[in-house]
Amino acid sequence: MLFGGFAEAAGGNNCDPGKEWVVELAGDAVPAMRAVFNIMHGQSRGLMAVDVDSNTFISRLYDIVVVADKYDCISSLRPYAASWVQSLKAENKDEQALLRLSWIFYQLGHKSKYEDVVTRLIKDVADTKTGNPVADLDLPAVLPPHLLESLHAVRERMLRQLLDPISFSVTALITGERTTSTGCSRDDKLAAQCESYMLGKALRELHKKNLYPVPTAKDMTLSLTALDAVITELAAACSGPRFLDYHGTCRAFKPPLRTFGVEWGCRNLKRTTYATEYKYTVDVSELRHITTQAGRTGVDIFGPAELLASHKAPFFGAS
Ligand SMILES: [Zn+2]
Repeated sequence: MLFGGFAEAAGGNNCDPGKEWVVELAGDAVPAMRAVFNIMHGQSRGLMAVDVDSNTFISRLYDIVVVADKYDCISSLRPYAASWVQSLKAENKDEQALLRLSWIFYQLGHKSKYEDVVTRLIKDVADTKTGNPVADLDLPAVLPPHLLESLHAVRERMLRQLLDPISFSVTALITGERTTSTGCSRDDKLAAQCESYMLGKALRELHKKNLYPVPTAKDMTLSLTALDAVITELAAACSGPRFLDYHGTCRAFKPPLRTFGVEWGCRNLKRTTYATEYKYTVDVSELRHITTQAGRTGVDIFGPAELLASHKAPFFGAS
């Protein structure tokens, strides 16, 4: 960085041999810069074992990766990247930590952990923050390209996939127009009575859960996971009347799809529909970037567990 094409490099105003050369690192986190310099210069005396689940660790590692990317020296993290990545997990993290982890895994090149983090961001975080430009101000400054936009778009589409059938079912019960998947499943003289019963029950349950009138996807404040749980309860609660023969199994609503599902969108682009077990998969450009980064950092080969399983050790082999 000090001799390359960076603003801080020796050159231009910095090249006067008689002058003291002061490098301005405005905006760079000082502890992160210090850590990167220590790594680059082989200074390991400050190394200690820290709690990998603490937000402090994630935040400091995020800063280091931001600095290493900014000055194009991700490869210098190679001795540590694999053990950092192996110890980090997406479970039980808040939105801020997940966003920072997305950048860490994206830049250090770990595909499956990046996918885990994005899956959690899509499903477990409500869209109130990332969908709101004002609230976005306290989000991490650097993130994978287009991540926030794509989180917002996918969440909104999947929320619609969960909310639309609820609206359709209520409308069908109000108008008496049968749907193929929900409503009264019988065609006997008790069907109208069954539907009236289910309509009353559905409205009462939706009101209890603050879902009536059914909100639009844009107004939804629950995460996909939370909404899934609510609709699952609704589907179980809003059945036909047991006191009418054969109508006890009629249902006002269906529970969400449980397993992975895909739909075919315009131009035959495959789009994933919401399912409880939905898992995000990287697109072609993300995969290309992550694969390149993995080659630089060795995250796939130098993790303590991988080394132990393969009976190998990091060493300077013949090139
Ligand atoms: Zn019925």
